[in-house]
Amino acid sequence: MYRLPSRLPLHRPSFNNLFSFHRNATASPLRSSSPLVDSQQQTKNDSMPPVPENLLKPMEIPARELFGPGPSNMTLPIQDSASRSLLGHLHPEFIKIMSDAREGLQYVFKTQSAYTFAVSGTGHAGMEAAVLNLLERGEKILALKTGIWGQRCANLAKRLDLQVQTVEAVEGNAVPFDEVKKAIESFKPQVLFVCQGESSTGVCQPIDGLGELCHQNNCLLLVDTVASLGGTEFDMDAWGVDCVYSATQKVLNAPPGLAPISFSQRAMDKIKTRKTPVASWYFDALELGNYWGADEGPKRYHHTAPISTVYTLRTALAEIAKEGIDAVIARHRKNSEIVYGELEAINLKPFVEKKEWRLPCLTTISVPDGVDAAEVQKEMMAQGIEIAGGLGPTAGRIWRIGTFGANSNEEKIRHVIKKLGEIVQTKRSRL
Ligand SMILES: *Cc1c(COP(=O)(O)O)cnc(C)c1O
Repeated sequence: MYRLPSRLPLHRPSFNNLFSFHRNATASPLRSSSPLVDSQQQTKNDSMPPVPENLLKPMEIPARELFGPGPSNMTLPIQDSASRSLLGHLHPEFIKIMSDAREGLQYVFKTQSAYTFAVSGTGHAGMEAAVLNLLERGEKILALKTGIWGQRCANLAKRLDLQVQTVEAVEGNAVPFDEVKKAIESFKPQVLFVCQGESSTGVCQPIDGLGELCHQNNCLLLVDTVASLGGTEFDMDAWGVDCVYSATQKVLNAPPGLAPISFSQRAMDKIKTRKTPVASWYFDALELGNYWGADEGPKRYHHTAPISTVYTLRTALAEIAKEGIDAVIARHRKNSEIVYGELEAINLKPFVEKKEWRLPCLTTISVPDGVDAAEVQKEMMAQGIEIAGGLGPTAGRIWRIGTFGANSNEEKIRHVIKKLGEIVQTKRSRL
C-alpha cells in the first residue's frame, strides 16, 4: 500500500524517479527511498510545514452554469484542446498554431493589421499593454466612464505618470458623442480610452464616429472589448480604432490567460518613434509582435507563451470561424431579445433603459425594492447557476447575467431566467 511520507524530501528527486512523477503515486519520489535523504535531518527540521493534507484529496469542481460576467463555460472542443500535449514555444508546429490564432483574431477584430496577437495575461494585461505602449510619461489620456473600467484605466494611467481626465456618463447611459468631442477639443489627449462593453453597468458605448473624431484631433482611439468582442458589432479598421484588446474567458468561452490585442498602423508608427522605450519588457508591442510573427525578422525568444491556453484560443476562434463572426454577433443580438422578453414576463426591468445602449451579451437587471440581491444570487448558485451582482457603485442594486458565446443559447437563457423568476417570486411574496 501507498504510505504517505511524513515530510517532503529536501533533495531534488533522483533522475530515475523524475519520470515516474505523474500518474503513479507508488513510484513517487515523495516516498523518499533515495539514499540521498537524511532521515535524521528530516525529523530534526521541525520548522518545515507538514504535508498539506488537503492536497492529498481530490480537487472539488462542481458542474456550474456560468452566467456571470466571466469566465463563461467552455465548449467541449475548447476543453479538450486544453489537455493536448505541450509543444515547445518555438517549435514550428506551435508557431503555426500561433499564426492560425493571429489570423482568427484579425477575422474577429475585422482588421488587416499585422500587429494582431495575444498578450499572455488576462484582460487587465491587455489594458496595461495598450496604455504602456501608446503613451509616454507626461502625455495625456482621456477616459470615458460608463462604469468601473474607465476608472480602472484612469487609475493605471496615474501610476504611469500620465495626465488623466475622465468624462462620466449618467449612470446606465453611454457618453453622448458631443460630450466626447468637447472634452477632446479642450483637453487635447494623445489617447482616448473607451470601454465598449461596460460589464459593471451593462452599457454598450457606441464607437462608430469616434475614430474620425480622434484622428482629426491627433489622438489615438483605444477600445476595451473584453466583455463585448463577438457579442456585439465591432469593426476595427472601418471604425478607425488604433488599439483594441479583449480576453479569452468571456464571449470566446476559452479559459482566462490571454488578452487578444491589435494595434493599427497609426499606433505602430507612434510606438516605433517613441522617445523613450516602453517601460515594460513583458508588454513591449514590438517584442511581442516579433514573437507572434507580426514582423519579418527572425523570431526571438521573448517569453514562454502559455501553450495550452493558445491551443484553446485557436479552438475558440475556429468555432467562431465555422459559425461566421457576423452570425455569432447576430445570435447574441437575437438572444438578447429573448432575455428582455423573459425578464418582462417575470416583471423585472433591464437596468439600461435605452435599448441601443444595452450590451447584447451581458444584461443588467434592476433589483426590485425590498429584495436582497445577494440572497437571490446565493439561491441561484445553490441550484448550480452563477449570476452576478453589481460591481462598485451598482453593488446590491443590479444583477448581471452574462450570455457569452455558447451560453447565448435560447434554451439555456429561458432556463436561467425562469429560475431567477421563481426565486425572486418567493422573496416578493414574503414582502
Ligand atoms: C472582465 C473585464 C476586464 C478585465 O479582464 P480580466 O480578464 O478579469 O483581467 C476588463 N474590461 C472589461 C470590460 C471586463 O468585463
